[in-house]
Amino acid sequence: MSERRFDPTSGEWITFATHRQNRTFLPPANACPLCPDPKNEWDGEIRRPDYEVAVFDNRFPALSPTPPAPDVESTELYQVEPATGRCEVIAYSSDHNATLAKLGAERIRLLIDAWADRYQVLGAEGHTYVLPFENRGEAIGVTLHHPHGQIYAYDDIPARPLRKLKKAAEYRTRTGRCVECDVVAAELDDGRRIIAEGEHFIAHVPFWARYPYEVRISPKQHTHSLVAVSDEARTDLSRLLHRVFTGLDDLFGFPLPYVLGIFSSPTNGSPSVAGWDGSWDDISHLHFLISPPNRSESKLKYIAGTEQMGGAYSTDIAPEVAAATLRSKIPS
Ligand SMILES: [Zn+2]
Ligand SMILES: [Zn+2]
Repeated sequence: MSERRFDPTSGEWITFATHRQNRTFLPPANACPLCPDPKNEWDGEIRRPDYEVAVFDNRFPALSPTPPAPDVESTELYQVEPATGRCEVIAYSSDHNATLAKLGAERIRLLIDAWADRYQVLGAEGHTYVLPFENRGEAIGVTLHHPHGQIYAYDDIPARPLRKLKKAAEYRTRTGRCVECDVVAAELDDGRRIIAEGEHFIAHVPFWARYPYEVRISPKQHTHSLVAVSDEARTDLSRLLHRVFTGLDDLFGFPLPYVLGIFSSPTNGSPSVAGWDGSWDDISHLHFLISPPNRSESKLKYIAGTEQMGGAYSTDIAPEVAAATLRSKIPS
């Protein structure tokens, strides 16, 4: 079964991909699907003795370009659609035990180029929204420890980016400005929540952080996606990201679990769904969001009652305090 169903009471689509139940779950190190398998000894994904960054289709995709027809019929109340789109895996290194902090800025620079390239290619294939993300650590349900992320290409704009675009459109209509540009200027002006700064990008704990050690990384100039980031600025970003990942891993002295997402401009579709009559680029300001679940070395923040049922986050560390702690861990 591979389909998506619409919740008419909330306006959200839910994807069902029951074949994913059988996906690789914490395989032994000698049968890792992302480790180089040049002689096809364990049905690995990569037939090379070594690689730097590798991108390929997810073997257990939630969304695919040619999904089977839904199992049930669509009605006016209960809408059902095939789960179309594309799911890719992006492996960061052939080294099973590597981390982005250990791999260094040069490898991160290559990753940035790969993310930008896939954004362009998947957009040109006609998909509407390209979301690179990474789930890291068993604390957030990772089934495979090899350093890697994923790239989902959706055929519509998922709920959270759509909500952000609607707010950006509303802000732009009201003020004539980009909300994220204003946030970056306010953070640079204040300084207390900035944890690292490059020439072109800043990393800060948001004023409204949903997780104690949440980090947002944005370009100082209005930029709609990584494709629009210059060569020089990509190198600047890679150095900044490397410093941030190093600081996060030094925070409690172990590789910090997190969920990372890269938000960019939609690649297709009409901005009118966000209430905007200009271009997507006007209301899309590229940003990375890193949300670690840890609130201390041994305690996790759970998405529980108020968050899950109320949609209202509550956090017990002030963003200014968290930023000062993180700043002290980040190498200059
Ligand atoms: Zn591996
Ligand atoms: Zn902007």
